[in-house]
Formats: sequence, C-alpha cells, structure tokens
Amino acid sequence: MSDQQHEPPPPYSPYSAEDASKFSNYPVKGAPAPEMSSQPSYTDSQNTQSATRVIQLPPVAIAVSQFGQFPVECDCRYCHAHIVTHTSKVAGALPWIVMGICFVLGFFLLIPWCICCIPFCIDSCLDVLHTCPACKRSLGRFSRI
Ligand SMILES: [Zn+2]
Repeated sequence: MSDQQHEPPPPYSPYSAEDASKFSNYPVKGAPAPEMSSQPSYTDSQNTQSATRVIQLPPVAIAVSQFGQFPVECDCRYCHAHIVTHTSKVAGALPWIVMGICFVLGFFLLIPWCICCIPFCIDSCLDVLHTCPACKRSLGRFSRI
C-alpha cells in the first residue's frame, strides 16, 4: 500500500519550455484562411449602416403626457423659463363618482353618508394640477380617469 502511494508521478509533458515556445508560434503562421481575408471590411460597413439606421428614427413626442402626480421639471410654454411645476390637488371626476356610489349604497347597506366626502380628502383620488411657479399659469393636469 505505502509503496504505491510514494511512487514518483509520471512526467506531465514530454516537451520542455523551449519546445512550448516553438509550438505557440506554429498555429499563427498557418492561421490566415483565404475566405476570411477575401472580405475584410464588409461586416464592419454593415454594422455602421445598421447603427446609423437606429439613430435616424423620427423623434417621439414626449410632451404629451409628461405630467404625473409629482412635480415635473420642464420648460414653461408661456414664459419659457426652466421650472419645476407647482402641484395642487383638485377634485376631478373620480371623487364625485365615488361619492355618488357611496350615496346610493347608503340607502341599502346602512353606510353612513358622512363617508361620502372621504374621497375628497384622499390624495390618490384627486387630480393634480401643474402650474408654473413663475407666471402662475396652468401647464397641465394629471387626471385619475
Ligand atoms: Zn411660466
């Protein structure tokens, strides 16, 4: 048992370091294939053409629905100042609809009618009105419906 464990390992590679350096040069000399060298820059020109196609896409109108429920940084279209819009909560159509539903259900389900005004106190039910802090004009409105 112990004799087999202490046997010297077999030589890993029959080649020395000098032979390895000769081998590393060998595939480089015979590497270039005639098919690859016949069309050197064709694929490069194709890549640049596809890149310019992506850039030439028509510009997308961003200013349509840019107003959300939070203040937005934009240019005022009235005074042309670069501002962050001032937001204020405004009761839109949604709290009136919820109030109407609660009022009708109050006849049948004994829901107290005082909760009908709750939607007007919840920010998530109110529209957001964006105004310019410089010229105080209305720039847009974020509607819940
Ligand atoms: Zn303005």
